[in-house]
Amino acid sequence: MSPIGILGGTFDPIHFGHLRLAQEVADQLRLAEVRFIPSGTPPHRAAPGTLAADRLAMVRLAVAGNALFTVDPRESSSTAPGYTVDTLTALRSEVGAAQSLVMILGADAFLDLATWSRWHQLFELAHVAVAYRPGFPVDTWQSRMPQPLAAEYNARLLHQPFSVHVAPAGGIVVVPIAELNISATMIRDSLRQGKNPRYLLPDSIYQYIQEHMLYSEN
Ligand code: ATP
Repeated sequence: MSPIGILGGTFDPIHFGHLRLAQEVADQLRLAEVRFIPSGTPPHRAAPGTLAADRLAMVRLAVAGNALFTVDPRESSSTAPGYTVDTLTALRSEVGAAQSLVMILGADAFLDLATWSRWHQLFELAHVAVAYRPGFPVDTWQSRMPQPLAAEYNARLLHQPFSVHVAPAGGIVVVPIAELNISATMIRDSLRQGKNPRYLLPDSIYQYIQEHMLYSEN
């Protein structure tokens, strides 16, 4: 029973930063699978301008052909704010108490974790894998973490990444990945300025964006 990775996000749109994140964490931690969970109505940020159905469709297209990657549409179909702790609680009851779960976060998302609803409970439900992201160098994390998050980080940090195979939840592991300076914001801005975002995201996603005329308004 290798661990299952969980990658939540707005994916507005999904890009190569997300896909490399998932692939490298899966490889380094030897995950059985990475489940992409596109948000419906994200509680922590402004509502995305793109319909949940379009963001879900793009995630499905982007992961097609990778046997490690799956898509979980549960948050996309809900109009209520989707809290990660509720999604993980539901997943935990589906997979059972013994199955290891690993919530994958880029460093920016991890540094924000203490603002999430019932965030301490997340560690009872899953491990947390924190991956490098440009703009958030690892040697600045400690100084950028609020004290309650720093306390969890210091108490839970696993120095042996494969410890996520031993316990079902509760650890934090840092995963050094190739830093790709790509964000969905950058892609949306490029498209609105009429620039070509090729090679920042899969061609199939760029094609979907063009066919559905996404991100074209000012
Ligand atoms: P936006 O620019 O709209 O805020 P984003 O590109 O940060 O979007 P999200 O969908 O918000 O993408 O991110 C989902 C998850 O993927 C988060 O944990 C985030 O840290 C991570 N992530 C996104 N892009 C990268 C990247 N280039 N490198 C590492 N992690 C990333």
